[in-house]
Amino acid sequence: MERVIIVGSGPAGLTASLYAARANFQPLCIEGWQPLGLLMTTTEVENFPGFPGGVMGPELMMNMREQAQKFGTRFITDNATKLELSGEVKKVWVGETCYETRAVILATGASAVKLGIPSEEEYLYGKGISTCATCDGAFYRKLTVAVLGGGDSAMEEANFLTTFADKVYLIHRREEFRASKIMVDRVKDNPKIEIVAPYTVEEFVGDGKLLNSIRLKHAKDGSERIVEVAGAFVAIGHKPNTELFGDQVELDEKGYVKCTGRSQKTSVPGVFAAGDLQDTTYKQAITSAGSGCIAALDAQHYLEHHGW
Ligand code: NAP
Repeated sequence: MERVIIVGSGPAGLTASLYAARANFQPLCIEGWQPLGLLMTTTEVENFPGFPGGVMGPELMMNMREQAQKFGTRFITDNATKLELSGEVKKVWVGETCYETRAVILATGASAVKLGIPSEEEYLYGKGISTCATCDGAFYRKLTVAVLGGGDSAMEEANFLTTFADKVYLIHRREEFRASKIMVDRVKDNPKIEIVAPYTVEEFVGDGKLLNSIRLKHAKDGSERIVEVAGAFVAIGHKPNTELFGDQVELDEKGYVKCTGRSQKTSVPGVFAAGDLQDTTYKQAITSAGSGCIAALDAQHYLEHHGW
């Protein structure tokens, strides 16, 4: 019987592992076959406290893993394939192997929704296409960038990016915006932003190493337009990774795991959630790490309360 199993190994899962390990629970972290979360796909992280000179995303994550391991976390570098969360004893499968525990911390994160066109894959992460303006905006000082999307995230990112970029194209597939009026008005009032709508993205174009433009198609008359950009920010929403257990814990109307009050407890006793899969708002490495810490403390209290 494991004492705590953590599913996921981004900042939330690893912080939960660290805290559970320091509580002497020798936690088992199912880290996934592509471990350490979304920060593995970023370059420099400048907003994680403690690193005044910045830190590379992968380095930060490997340090977190090492720290969790140092205090006794054991890792399985594979995906959890099935979870059974009801009842006092929970079951977590990795392929044919079943692990039993009384406390599970879910930290499987969220994935940015992408357009899904082939050229997007070619320039994603580090080559010009990003899914996080907060993470990568500062790399585009005095350059021209595009934001794709018409929701609040796209509006917020477009405005934010004007603090670095000289010009921001906001490209959206419709003339109407899903975003709230106040957010749209801010974009319209910003002289550095040009709205390009209704256009769909046909292709991201570059030299194979770096993006340099986007080929667009007018959604009504089919005419083509090329916008030259050094960076493109895809802001068409996020999807929490809840496929494995979404039918066992309560989710909110957007599909994120619901936690109760100021805790990381889910609707199922003994099951806790941390990180992006339960965060509709902040979605930062440091907030994920914070929620991972709380989840581990909640799990500790739960186990102690039951005398386990
Ligand atoms: P969202 O509201 O779902 O908007 C997604 C946008 O992406 C829509 O404009 C949608 O276009 C577009 N889109 C989706 N799939 C696309 C595709 N395949 N190709 C092209 N465009 C596509 O997502 P969000 O902006 O990330 O916001 C998520 C939630 O967080 C919302 O509830 C939002 O209010 C909230 N939020 C709030 C704030 C704030 O208040 N400060 C900031 C950020 C986010 P269509 O409209 O044509 O479908």
